Amino acid sequence: MDAIRIAEGVNAGRLDPVAVVTEHLARIESQDGRIHAFLALNPRAEEEARAVAERVSAGERLPLAGVPFAVKDNLATRGLATTAGSKILADFVPPYTATAVARLRAAGAVLLGKTNLDEFAMGSSTEHSAFGPTKNPWDLARVPGGSSGGSAAAVAAGMVPLALGSDTGGSIRQPAAYTGTLGFKPTYGRVSRYGLIAYASSLDTVGPIARSVADLAAAMDVLAGYDPKDATSLEAEAGFRAALNRPVQGLRVALIRETLGPGTDPAVREATLRFAGVLEDLGVEMGEVGLPELDYALAAYYLVATSEASSNLARYDGTLYGMRSAGADLIAAMKATRARFLGQEVKRRIFMGTFALSSGYYQAYYGRALKARGAIARAFERAFADHDLLITPTAPTPAFRLGEKVTDPLSMYLTDVNTVAANLAGLPALSIPAGFADGLPLGVQLIAPAMQDERLLAVAAAFERATGGSYQRVASLDRG
Ligand code: GLN
Repeated sequence: MDAIRIAEGVNAGRLDPVAVVTEHLARIESQDGRIHAFLALNPRAEEEARAVAERVSAGERLPLAGVPFAVKDNLATRGLATTAGSKILADFVPPYTATAVARLRAAGAVLLGKTNLDEFAMGSSTEHSAFGPTKNPWDLARVPGGSSGGSAAAVAAGMVPLALGSDTGGSIRQPAAYTGTLGFKPTYGRVSRYGLIAYASSLDTVGPIARSVADLAAAMDVLAGYDPKDATSLEAEAGFRAALNRPVQGLRVALIRETLGPGTDPAVREATLRFAGVLEDLGVEMGEVGLPELDYALAAYYLVATSEASSNLARYDGTLYGMRSAGADLIAAMKATRARFLGQEVKRRIFMGTFALSSGYYQAYYGRALKARGAIARAFERAFADHDLLITPTAPTPAFRLGEKVTDPLSMYLTDVNTVAANLAGLPALSIPAGFADGLPLGVQLIAPAMQDERLLAVAAAFERATGGSYQRVASLDRG
C-alpha cells in the first residue's frame, strides 16, 4: 500500500498502525533473506507504532500516520547502530538522531530499520558495503544500484513504501532507476543534512525514495525546511503536495542532447524519448539543448568528492569512537585502525582526494575541478534562462550484474555520468520509472532550477497520470 493511503486509513481510524507495521515486518522477514536490503531492524518498531496509534486516537492528524519507513545506514539514529556500511563504525551507536529521520517520526511515520549502502556512500552498486551486497528485487543476479541500494530495494520489493537515501552524485536517483522506484534529490540545503555521515559536504543531500509521486510529495512536505543544526539549511515554504495538480501545459522542457549519445543503451534512449513524447502530448513545449560543459562533470565530481572525503574521513582514526586497533604509539594505532577497518574503495577515494589537494597538485586538480564546477553551474543557468525543466536518462543502462564492474572503478563511476552534474550545481532532480528493458526497470531524470523542487513533482505527477502509473509496480520477485 502507498504511504498516503496508509496515512489516510490510520488517520480515519480504519487502519491500525501496529498491524501495518507487523505486516511490513513479515514481508521483510519473508523477502529480505534473498535481497539483503536491511542491515538492522528497529527492535522498537511496534512500540513506536502503538505510540502513533495513541496520538491519533487523542485527535492528532499526522501527515504520515503509521507509514513504515526505512533509513539508509549513514543517517544517525539514536540508540540504533549506524554503520555507514563500514567495519570502522560496526559498533557505533549514535547519541543523536538525524533531522530527516526525526521529522518523519514527528509526522507519524514508523522506522522499521536501517538499509545497506556502499561504504560511506562511495559507490554505485552496494557491492562496496562491508556487510555484503544488496540484490536487485527485479533480478537477484543484478545490483540495485547505489549507494542507497538497500533503501531502493526495500521500497521496490514492497518491504516499505518509503525510505530515506542520500545523494552526493546520484545515490538516490541511480538506484531508483535500477529498481523501478522514484527517487528525489532536493536542492542543496532544502533538507537538513544534520545527522548524515558526511561524504562530500558541498554535494551531500538527503531525500526520499517511494513508489508514487504523491508519496514523494508527502514525504518532501515533511522533510523540507530550515534546520538551525545545519549551517547550509535554507528557509523556504514547502508546497510539494500542492504542486501535484499544477498544470504543465506551456512549460518549456528540453532533453539534454549529450546524454542521449552512443554511450546510452538504446532501450534507455527510447524510454527517455517516449517520456518526452508523453509530456508533449500534455501540451509541454519540448525542445533539445546542448550542454557540452557536462563532459567535465564526472571528472570534476570525482575530484571534488574525493577531496572533501579525504578531509571528512580523517576523523575515523579509532581515538574517539568506532573500531580501534592497537599500536606501539598513537600514530601506529591510527594507521593500524584505518588500514584494518576501512575498505578498499574508501581508501582509493582518500588517496585520490589527498593527492588532488597536495601542494604542487592542488591547482592542477582541485583548483581546476572547482573551475569546471563553476562552468557547469553557469551552463545550467544559461539553459534555464529559456527552459523550465531539463530531461536526461537517469543512468545510461539498466541495472548491471553483480560483479560486473566491481573490479573496474572507472566503469562503475561512469554509471553516474548523468547524475553528478545536479550535485555539482546544487540543483533539484528526480528519477521516475519510464520503461522496461528485458523486464528490468528504466528511469528518466528531471532537473529543475534551484528551489524549483516542486516543479519536478508537478511534471512527474502529470506523467504518472497520463501513463496510469504503468511503469511503477512492486518488483515481481520471480526472477533469479
Ligand atoms: N556513485 C557516486 C560515488 O561513488 C555517488 C555516490 C553518492 O551519491 N553518494 O561517489
